[in-house]
Amino acid sequence: MRTPVLAGNWKMYMTPEEGRQMVQALIPLVADCQEREIVLCPPYTSLAALAEALKGTNIASGAQNMHPAKEGAYTGEVAPGMLKALNCKYVILGHSERRQYFGETDAMVAEKVKAALAANLIPIVCVGETLAQREQGITEPVVDIQVRLGLAGLSPEELAGIIIAYEPVWAIGTGKTASSADAQKVCRFIRSVLSSWHGDAAKKVRILYGGSVKPDNIRELMEQPDIDGALVGGASLKADSFARIVRFE
Ligand code: PEP
Repeated sequence: MRTPVLAGNWKMYMTPEEGRQMVQALIPLVADCQEREIVLCPPYTSLAALAEALKGTNIASGAQNMHPAKEGAYTGEVAPGMLKALNCKYVILGHSERRQYFGETDAMVAEKVKAALAANLIPIVCVGETLAQREQGITEPVVDIQVRLGLAGLSPEELAGIIIAYEPVWAIGTGKTASSADAQKVCRFIRSVLSSWHGDAAKKVRILYGGSVKPDNIRELMEQPDIDGALVGGASLKADSFARIVRFE
């Protein structure tokens, strides 16, 4: 069985103090949730505050991006070991906003995935088609390429330990959610790509859905056999709504 993952992506929202307050409200609301991984990915600037506030709880933290090098003259960037030093367990890689606004390519994602694994961080690798691609009927080839290139060179053991987030770009921050049947179809397709490549390791990979996930639609999404959790943007900023998502309520 795959343990569900409910991950919040705070994007460029919340100061450390706002983050600390949100987490203090969230902790008691999800303290009894067993058998799922609860993750918050704040901006880098809030990681230290969250590391302190989340100590001894069932909530882990992650980053929203990282540079693949161990260290170096890369102004403005953050290295994998720096995230580990702040207690990060996860790192989101290849989010569509990184691809769209910061020119991230599949090759860059692949390099970051390897660096994350080498640093013992669990990558949450985002893939998904744009609205134009969906309308052209090329969702599956687009996602196929993102998966094959973004995860290039991984061994079956490495593959089994990563998380993939299927996030149709047209559903992110728009209030439009893919129907649970559509989301399941693409998540199953992703698993079939992984299994044609690395056989049974594909059964262990957690595949999340992301794109306007809310308390209202989480239960139906979680009922789908190939959806193992959610990557949540807007609805992860408030303790109450994120707690209801974590609880599938
Ligand atoms: C995201 O940022 O990954 C996301 C899915 O955002 P939202 O839930 O706001 O659509």
